[in-house]
Amino acid sequence: LTGEPEGKLVRAGATGYAPGAAGTERINATLLALVRNEELDQMLQSMTDLERTWNHKFNYPWTFFNDVPFTEEFKRKTRAATKAETRYELIPKEHWDVPSWINDDLYKESVNLLLKQGVQYADKISYHQMCRWNSGLFYKHPALADTQFYWRVEPNVHFFCDVDYDVFRYMADNNKTYGFTITLYDAPKSIPNLWPETAQFIAEHPEYLHPNNAMDWVTDKQRRPIHNAQANGYSTCHFWTNFEIADMNFWRSKPYEEYFNHLDRAGGFFYERWGDAPVHSIALGLFEDKSKIHWFRDIGYQHIPFFNCPNSPKCKGCVTGRLTDGEQWLNKEDCRPLWFKYAHMD
Ligand code: GDP
Ligand code: MN
Repeated sequence: LTGEPEGKLVRAGATGYAPGAAGTERINATLLALVRNEELDQMLQSMTDLERTWNHKFNYPWTFFNDVPFTEEFKRKTRAATKAETRYELIPKEHWDVPSWINDDLYKESVNLLLKQGVQYADKISYHQMCRWNSGLFYKHPALADTQFYWRVEPNVHFFCDVDYDVFRYMADNNKTYGFTITLYDAPKSIPNLWPETAQFIAEHPEYLHPNNAMDWVTDKQRRPIHNAQANGYSTCHFWTNFEIADMNFWRSKPYEEYFNHLDRAGGFFYERWGDAPVHSIALGLFEDKSKIHWFRDIGYQHIPFFNCPNSPKCKGCVTGRLTDGEQWLNKEDCRPLWFKYAHMD
């Protein structure tokens, strides 16, 4: 493994707290980005926004992950975009490679079928690898072994609102596991067997269902405005994971570890196009207390083509309440009302 820690690490002690800047205490957390060297400019865009609106006040370290080594230019320019520490980590081959049990002929056959059904990225093997890594592997990287919370940041996203409190501290102090901004319906054709495999897993492990779960949300049968179907029992409503602020202890728990292994063995990360968003969302909906899932309504956010735009003078460059600046049909992909209904936030 060739991780290259840059500069001085702020290591948290046993309490999970470490001394931070400006007389505050930093939580054991990092900003986390899986990114390609070619996406340097887009990454700088995301960093500039997040540093301006939030991180310059708290100086959480940035940890960048890549399946190939980062270039010197990538390191130099990202280092210059923050006062905080930056780390550059290579993903171990065994975390990124297509697993041995995936059959190449079956993969090719499946891709053809998915493409015929209009599933985007189906023929891009690295996209499948990325979804699998984000589902069940990133938090196993040795560089994160001592880290509890992360904020996932993609290249080319935007942050619009000044946020004046430490969101990681908010998570820790309020006993939250997971924070999101946007929820969307997924394309059922990308995940036909995800729910059947999940149903089998929970039949084998009913004890993993949390007493205060969001099963109703996961399996909602409401007639949907687009993709007018469930995915064989799953509503397809998911937290849009290009933004997530979360506690890795959940991914590291026994129920999630076994759930991920079950899905991984089933092959759907390759034979279908299971995304980390539905996988994370179903797991949270079933195995976590739904009161530990938090909507960050105050974090203005855009990943093309969707926004989370709070009604606040702290937000600039974002139209209040706007979900998309694209075609209006995109609004129909929003399933936040469903979450609010079942999480009793309405
Ligand atoms: P989309 O948001 O679903 O359209 O997918 P993206 O292309 O944005 O990919 C999701 C995230 O994974 C982004 O942060 C990408 O930079 C990253 N990513 C995707 N594929 C690869 C890859 O092959 N290598 C690396 N290093 N990062 C990748
Ligand atoms: Mn993206």
